[in-house]
Amino acid sequence: MQRYFLPPEQFQPSMNTVTIEGDDAHHLQRVMRADLGDKVICSNGVDREVLVRIMELDKTRVTAEIVEELPMNAESAVQVWIAQSLPKGDKMELIIQKGTEIGAARFLPFLSERTIVQYDAKKEAKRSERWQKIAKEAAEQAHRNRVPLIESVYSWKQLLARAKEADVAWICYEKEDGQQLKPVIQEALAAGKLGQGKQVLIAVGPEGGFTEQEIKQAEEAGFRSVSLGARILRTETAAMVGLTCLFYETGEMGG
Ligand code: SAM
Repeated sequence: MQRYFLPPEQFQPSMNTVTIEGDDAHHLQRVMRADLGDKVICSNGVDREVLVRIMELDKTRVTAEIVEELPMNAESAVQVWIAQSLPKGDKMELIIQKGTEIGAARFLPFLSERTIVQYDAKKEAKRSERWQKIAKEAAEQAHRNRVPLIESVYSWKQLLARAKEADVAWICYEKEDGQQLKPVIQEALAAGKLGQGKQVLIAVGPEGGFTEQEIKQAEEAGFRSVSLGARILRTETAAMVGLTCLFYETGEMGG
């Protein structure tokens, strides 16, 4: 069933209705060809998800009555933040889309020494708006209860500072020959660091990888360097592998 994330102000509790507006209203009428009486799911993206029945249709706004409060159980217990060194081209869109489907809670794009793409502040606002739209659409398709937040681009130093705010911070490093992902996850599980509301930060380098100096700085800041196995993954693959392995071990992939 089609679902939409609506800003809280589009829920009218006093009238037991919601209004679907803008692009969502257009999509519902033009693409989904919805009619009076049809039902869709609306979420405020925080703590409320409802089944609604369409009562009124006009070009830019659809009014629907709330017919049922729905359970919100599609989010993972542990909050995983993906920190991704800006990749070339539109790979970031793929990372956001797939990471959202799998269940990432937040994305932190950042710049590191070998980041190839030139950061352009002017383009930043437009790009960030596009990325957030991709996250919203992927979350709707995945029937999630929340839309992951795409943060603005971090400097390397800003990213390092986030490590101490997380319960667990891993930096994916293909030259790491000691700490393999599975035992590192199991150790964090045993230490109770992957439970409800805990926060994991997973950092992935750009196409050219991290420098040894960056890995050293990251470890000093509280990151743990982990290997994702013997094969070299593309930058757009690595976060998905780390996220999926973590969720598999914590039982979030149907465990
Ligand atoms: N240095 C790599 C090479 O020799 O081709 C390039 C980096 S790799 C394409 C991009 C990023 O994915 C890395 O910075 C790392 O974060 C992650 N990554 C790829 N394979 C990995 C592995 N086997 N273990 C841990 N991280 C990996």
